[in-house]
Amino acid sequence: MNLQSPRELSRMLGRNRREFLRDAAGVALGTATLRSPLARAAVVLKKKKVIVVTFGGGARDQETFAPQGQENVPNMMRELIPRATFFTQVVNRGILGHYVATASLATGVYETINNFSSLPPENPTVFEYFRKQLKRPSRDAWVVAPSNGFNRIGESDNRSYGAGLGARVILPKYLLNAAMSGSSSDVEHLLRDNYETPYYTPELAGSEFELDQMESILKLSVDDFKVHARTLSSPDELSLYIVRQLMRQVAPSLLWVTMHDIDVAHAGAYSLYIEGIRRTDRLCAELWKTIQSEPEYAGQTTLLILPDFGRDSDQDSGGNGFQHHRTGDALSRTTWLMAIGPGIREGVVYDRAMESVDLVPTLGAMLGFSPSLAQGKPIAELL
Ligand SMILES: [Zn+2]
Repeated sequence: MNLQSPRELSRMLGRNRREFLRDAAGVALGTATLRSPLARAAVVLKKKKVIVVTFGGGARDQETFAPQGQENVPNMMRELIPRATFFTQVVNRGILGHYVATASLATGVYETINNFSSLPPENPTVFEYFRKQLKRPSRDAWVVAPSNGFNRIGESDNRSYGAGLGARVILPKYLLNAAMSGSSSDVEHLLRDNYETPYYTPELAGSEFELDQMESILKLSVDDFKVHARTLSSPDELSLYIVRQLMRQVAPSLLWVTMHDIDVAHAGAYSLYIEGIRRTDRLCAELWKTIQSEPEYAGQTTLLILPDFGRDSDQDSGGNGFQHHRTGDALSRTTWLMAIGPGIREGVVYDRAMESVDLVPTLGAMLGFSPSLAQGKPIAELL
């Protein structure tokens, strides 16, 4: 690992980060001045909803919101950025594997579980804090995850939380595989599970999502699902389809969507990596539109979007640039966060350094629970 001290990292990245979004329309540099608490009284906590999207897996600044990358995220630039508070420097000090990093985002602790095993996070997840402290039913917290490897992310093995207290997890690929029952050759492009290790094919365990639940919960017939899936071009599009169905039929207050198409970069083709970013950009803007058009969500939902981490620098001799995320250099550890919704300041950019583990304490402050074991701090500019 090649990790600089926080101060050094902050100084180095801060220099470039002031360039972020500098030309974007209607965007101002934020100051440390915080808003009056009265400004956020608009949404009653009980009705408030939060959707977290991980813009992944693994996207660098230079292909997203740094000036030279903004052409790859035109939908978010146009539709979201003018309405969002944007943080240019979110540092992930944990292990840069997609499952363990996403688990860290969801617990607020840098998890050390094996990235390639089917294990629950060690620390309580945001879903468990939310449900236990606010006495919310299981239908109120859901995760839509890209890969079989994420099937345990909904609840930890912490003794005070754990089984039955977490989020329900939908793996759209598993659903599709089950729906196709063996005749899946025409949807193989949607079933590709892991871009990193072809030898890793985890067994499904824990809370499997049964096909009959697809009909009873998502109100989706297996046939309709199959027909629609055949029109889609990527696993993340399949995920967004399920997310919309879930929003319409179940309307959970806490919804976590893990995108993963971008990780096709491991195959080594820059064009596929960019295509993944452009698709994810479009899907994020479409999700925001869906939020506006669903009565249960419109006007009371905060959307937070952030990559799980970056990818290696082109300059680092230990890596292959965009292709992987294995050097642990500053670029692969530093990403951004965007927040948009009622009470969130619009068109503001902050350069100060924060960490990935600040997400859970921020969600706690937004929704009214206290994540006692989380390591991060609430992001004051969002509260
Ligand atoms: Zn990867």
